Amino acid sequence: MDCIFCKIAAGEIPSERVFEDELTLAFRDIQPQAPSHVLVIPKTHLASLDGLEDPGLAGALLTAAARVARDEGLDGGWRLIANTGSDGGQEVDHLHLHVLGGRPLGRMLSS
Ligand code: AMP
Repeated sequence: MDCIFCKIAAGEIPSERVFEDELTLAFRDIQPQAPSHVLVIPKTHLASLDGLEDPGLAGALLTAAARVARDEGLDGGWRLIANTGSDGGQEVDHLHLHVLGGRPLGRMLSS
């Protein structure tokens, strides 16, 4: 399968890994949008959040994201983003969670 994040998970494409466990891998985004910008992916291919049915994997991804935020020292807060599908702005078709922080991120949704 020609999936760039599968190749990163397999070590075929270099990445700056910050965390991994049995199910997940976290590495720095190549075009960071904040001082800390890490992507958390499942090691096995899943195109997007749309196809996520395994609560164990969902928990592993969220737990990894929280662990990354703590390890990055994002004490002031952070944001988790999962762009999903074309309307959601997803460009890489392998489920990934963006962990962003290290500066005030502003509000995304108006109240
Ligand atoms: P999305 O728009 O949610 O699909 O985001 C895809 C993200 O993957 C973007 O923020 C890219 O900068 C990032 N990205 C693409 N290729 C790589 C790579 N080789 N290593 C790290 N991040 C990447």
